[in-house]
Amino acid sequence: MFVKAQISTGVFLSFLLTSTHRPAASAVPPIAPHTYEIAGGIAPGRQPDGNTYILENGNRLTVIDTGRHASHLNKIEAFAEEKHASVVAVINSHWHLDHVSGNIGLRKTYPAMKVYGSGAINEALTGFLAKGAESSRKMLATEKLDPVTREEISTDLATIDAGDALKPDVVLSHDETLAIGGRKLQIYVAKDAATAADVWVFDPSSGVVFVGDLVTFPSPFLDTACGDGWKSALTKIEGLPFRTVAPGHGPLLSREQFHTYSQAFNELLSCSASSQTAAACAKTWVDQVADIGGMTEQEKKLGQGMTGYYVKDVLRAHGGNSEYCAVKTPPSRS
Ligand SMILES: [Zn+2]
Repeated sequence: MFVKAQISTGVFLSFLLTSTHRPAASAVPPIAPHTYEIAGGIAPGRQPDGNTYILENGNRLTVIDTGRHASHLNKIEAFAEEKHASVVAVINSHWHLDHVSGNIGLRKTYPAMKVYGSGAINEALTGFLAKGAESSRKMLATEKLDPVTREEISTDLATIDAGDALKPDVVLSHDETLAIGGRKLQIYVAKDAATAADVWVFDPSSGVVFVGDLVTFPSPFLDTACGDGWKSALTKIEGLPFRTVAPGHGPLLSREQFHTYSQAFNELLSCSASSQTAAACAKTWVDQVADIGGMTEQEKKLGQGMTGYYVKDVLRAHGGNSEYCAVKTPPSRS
């Protein structure tokens, strides 16, 4: 193919990377029938975008998670345009900004769309996010920051300021089966897991389970986590007849790979509760998940650093769970 040949010369590739043109939807292959992924990622010096998944039913699209940056939102909107379809629903797996920020732009483009999510974002907007915004404003005012960091901080601040547009129209609070965008979906709400309430979704028609940040690479993002709730959610997921796990960050997983992830997660929490060093816990984690996460050497390094930080400064510093976990007993040893 012409474009492919051009890419192999590298000429076209650099054009694509710097171009503001939207990518063709045909560049987004299905991961299952009528089911698509727009992969997130972490660009150097920037905050991550979570993965987005799109469920198609005729000209109606349901978007699971909406990313953080405008560049990610553009890809979702370009996909819808190419398909001559409208986004009728968004399901947010949790309130972290790398999964909900695109809600604001999508609402402008598709005013009739409905956002489904847990109510945990309400407390986050007056707690975690409000606190973060306050220290960000201080940083912008007093510190000499490089332009990329400044831009990242400003992007998140603008998102938090528009917080009402992030909130769900339909609050999900318990496990239920719902018809959303014409697809019958099994909705699960995991309390006190990666956040105070995480939503994960099983689509029996495609065999895909969308688990949000209950599965992430290169490290579990434990900033607002409760260990036990997270572990039980992974166990519950494993009991479903899925073929593919669609994670919040990183590549799709098979059943077997998900099992490896789940075991590595349990071992990481046990290690965190032991007398081993944080660096040793992080190394075991990276060794166990590097293959299933398709992690590059750079991602392994990042995973080692992040996981060590989470063990030392997030879990151990607050009695075994993050300081934002409402459950005050440390996770049980597995
Ligand atoms: Zn995330």
